[in-house]
Parts: sequence; structure tokens; C-alpha cells
Amino acid sequence: MIRFDAVTKSFGGRKAVDDVSFAVEPGTVCALVGTSGSGKSTLLRMVNRLENPDSGRILFDGVDIAGLAPVELRRRIGYVIQSIGLFPHWTVARNIATVPRLLGWERGRVEARVSELLDLVGLEPEIHAQRYPDQLSGGQQQRVGVARALAADPELLLMDEPFGAVDPLTRRSLQESLAAIQKRTGTTVLLVTHDVEEAIRLGGTIAMLEHGRLVQAGAPAAVLAHPASEQVARFFGGPL
Ligand code: ATP
Ligand code: MG
Repeated sequence: MIRFDAVTKSFGGRKAVDDVSFAVEPGTVCALVGTSGSGKSTLLRMVNRLENPDSGRILFDGVDIAGLAPVELRRRIGYVIQSIGLFPHWTVARNIATVPRLLGWERGRVEARVSELLDLVGLEPEIHAQRYPDQLSGGQQQRVGVARALAADPELLLMDEPFGAVDPLTRRSLQESLAAIQKRTGTTVLLVTHDVEEAIRLGGTIAMLEHGRLVQAGAPAAVLAHPASEQVARFFGGPL
């Protein structure tokens, strides 16, 4: 589904992503972990072409994303960012409708989709659709962020620490919602997280970056049982 092929990206002579190759299989969740500054967000941003690799390729269903039009990418790839990124002067409904409107969906279809998505992420259309982001809790805003990313039924969902700023119970409930949605829709997910438990709970595979390099990728049990380096072991709290 999504394949990184020797992807490298530097900023000011420093490699943020360094020769990274791995693939995320269709319908699976890959948790991308690593310490702060290891290149996780940069890797995600390149999938959405918010950055372009200096070298290497990113293949989406076998096609180099460099050849896909931006509107095509917006339709096929949903994106949830670290800071939620809802438009504050737009209602929840309008935020969720961003991509459908970009695609020129007619009004009735957009409205039906917004209600359906609010239901899907555990919010109430009658109560929440016409609110503004600052009238919602942080966890509710994150649900809206997920709904917005899912609006046009993307094949791939990129999530950059989507549940960062909420309490542990809310986070657990968001994780459960995501797992249920992912199962139901079969969406492929690339999820960046700092949370080891989250990576293990949600990730069908885990990929770990360190200083821009991929140090290990595999099923959680395999990574835990056989960490490829001391850093990986330390990250997962295992024996050194
Ligand atoms: P965090 O967990 O803190 O979000 P990250 O793994 O997402 O970290 P990135 O944001 O990908 O890390 O950053 C990787 C490296 O690239 C860092 O050293 C960062 O300072 C650098 N970097 C990222 N974006 C830019 C940019 N636009 N200009 C210059 N340097 C950048
Ligand atoms: Mg980041």
C-alpha cells in the first residue's frame, strides 16, 4: 500500500530522514515510534507532499506519489496532525467537510457524511455539528480531527500523535474508537506516537526511527522479544 524506498531528507545539511525503506501493508496499522527529532513527522509530511524527499521514492499502491495531483492526495490520504489543526473560525461540520467540499460534493451528500462521521467518532450530530472548535474539549476536538481525515473515505490515514494532549482515560477511549473504525473501514493507518503502550496496542507492526534511520520494523511481540539495539530496548522499557 505505502512503501518507502531509500527515502532521504535533509534540512540545512542535517539528515532528518536517512535512507528509510519499509512498507505498510494494506488494511494494517503501523505505529511509527522514536525519540523527539528522530524524523517521524518529516516522514509523514513527505507522504502528503508537504515536504519532498531529496532522494528515494514513496510508492502509494505502486505509484510514485510525486506523480499524484494534490487533490488526488487529499482524497486518498487523510491526515491528522499533532496540534489537531481545526480551523477555529469554522464550525465542526464545516471543518469535517473540508475535503468533500474541495472535491465538489453536493450539499446534501456533505451533510449526510458529516452526520455519519460524527456518529462514527462518538460525537452527536445535533449537539456538536454547529459548534466551533473552542466550544469542544481537547478530546472532542481530536475526534473531529479524525472525522475530518476520514471524510472522503481515504485509503490511507496518516496520524501524527493524534491523541497527545488528553488525559489517559480519554486517550484510551480515542484509541478504542480508532481501532474500531479501522477494523470496520479497513483503512491503512500510519500512526506516529510517543506512547509505547499505544504503539503496542494499536500497531500491527511497529517501525522505529532513530536519528532519521529506521532501526527496526516488525510485529510488536517480535520487537519486544528481540529489540535490534539498546535504544530500541530502552524505548520499550525492556532489559538492556
Ligand atoms: P517529535 O517527536 O518531537 O515530533 P519528530 O520525530 O516528529 O519529533 P521531525 O519533526 O521529523 O521529528 O524532525 C526531525 C528533524 O528535522 C529535527 O532535527 C528537526 O529539527 C528537523 N526539521 C524538521 N522540520 C524542519 C524544517 N522545516 N526545517 C528545518 N529543520 C527541520
Ligand atoms: Mg513530530
